[in-house]
Amino acid sequence: MNTQETIIALSTPPGSGAIGVIRLSGPDAIRLTNEVFVGKDLEKQASHTLHFGLIKDGEQLIDEVVAGLFVAPKSYTKENVVEISCHGSNYIIQQIINLLIGKGARAAKPGEFTLRAFLNGAFDLSQAEAVADLIASNSKASHDVALQQMRGGFANELKGLREQLIHFASMIELELDFAEEDVEFANRDQLRNLVTKINYVLQRLISSFELGNVIKNGVPIVIAGKPNVGKSTLLNALLNEERAIVSDIAGTTRDTIEDELNIGGVVFRFIDTAGIRDTADIIEALGVERTLEKMKLAKLIIYMADASQTVPELDEQIRGLAKLEIPYLILLNKADLLSSEQRESFTALGVVFIAAKDKVGIDELKVTLLEQVNLHHINTNETLVTNIRHVEALKQTETALQRVLQNVDNPVTSDFLAMDIKQALHYLGEITGTVTTDDLLENIFTKFCIGK
Ligand code: GDP
Ligand code: ZN
Repeated sequence: MNTQETIIALSTPPGSGAIGVIRLSGPDAIRLTNEVFVGKDLEKQASHTLHFGLIKDGEQLIDEVVAGLFVAPKSYTKENVVEISCHGSNYIIQQIINLLIGKGARAAKPGEFTLRAFLNGAFDLSQAEAVADLIASNSKASHDVALQQMRGGFANELKGLREQLIHFASMIELELDFAEEDVEFANRDQLRNLVTKINYVLQRLISSFELGNVIKNGVPIVIAGKPNVGKSTLLNALLNEERAIVSDIAGTTRDTIEDELNIGGVVFRFIDTAGIRDTADIIEALGVERTLEKMKLAKLIIYMADASQTVPELDEQIRGLAKLEIPYLILLNKADLLSSEQRESFTALGVVFIAAKDKVGIDELKVTLLEQVNLHHINTNETLVTNIRHVEALKQTETALQRVLQNVDNPVTSDFLAMDIKQALHYLGEITGTVTTDDLLENIFTKFCIGK
């Protein structure tokens, strides 16, 4: 990666807008801009200042712009950065970018600004990934969590622990150097305490992924029930649009349909399942494979029935459902068709009555959903892991440290001890980017858009 090159890209979304911001980063960012900028001499201006001027290609005026200067190392990338705010026409933007490429800048690759920031030590890898999450966040909760990670919450937590482990690793290395003399530089009690403490933190971080993932990707809710009870109608009512196909013919919904809905700042992902076949044994019925797979991922199953089932039948279905050990909510739909006797007989099963077609009970259902998933007291000051790559690395760190705990009292295994500690350090380092490979970096940064 050649950071001597100056890169350029549009940093606002493509298409026309009131303004477009073109960003340059690299040693020549200010000098190159100065070559096409008519106004003050930008190379003589202070950092963090804005300058009005013209962009000209020879005698040809392209646009009136404002150039923002950020002198290295006080910028996002820690390099010289210029942000040119121009009028947001595609034509102008392309003209300016081409002009500067002609002067020696290079078109930036996806995520290259953030990659440079990482390479120049502006933040660690987990923070860089949080930038991507922040851009993609679509709810208050996912925004909060990404912001917290970007500001280093996650990284800080690991940094101190990693430093203490490094200390022990070097002590044990020292012991190996003095192997004949049978000395012990690394106090085994302290090591055991530290590893126990680290594992405790690791476990907390690993288990935070369940919540972190839900916040980032949405709470998965499966809508299940026999054909024709009104699952698609409910989905439409929740989403307020004709997303799923509603019909009178049993088994119309052949595939699962997913859609997202933001309720009270939490994103829910609703999954309408393929119609479950008519069989008394719900467990067997749930064996419709794809449905079962989806169900296992669900945070909550909304099981829907209507009055075409008798009370004993529904009772049996609920029993089957309970065996899945996933929280569930039983909705009795088509309440508009129920006689008061029917209503009363179903009440004993603890069902919630709705009439999806007329949107009766939908708002109450939304409130219930929020309560059920119990996310309304998210503490975003606490570190949440939202990234599958991080969880994997944390789990591998933990495995290595478990081996350290097993060997810590065994005097003949100092080399194993050293090896396992190094392993643990390696995996911890992968999270923050102290240990990286080009593949890993490419994998992460190509997920960004160009200009970020
Ligand atoms: P699914 O197979 O479970 O997805 O069922 P659908 O959503 O396709 O609905 C099946 C039929 O039930 C359709 O004709 C809907 O209009 C009807 N339906 C859905 N909700 C209600 C309701 O609250 N009351 C009444 N009377 N009919 C409903
Ligand atoms: Zn359906």
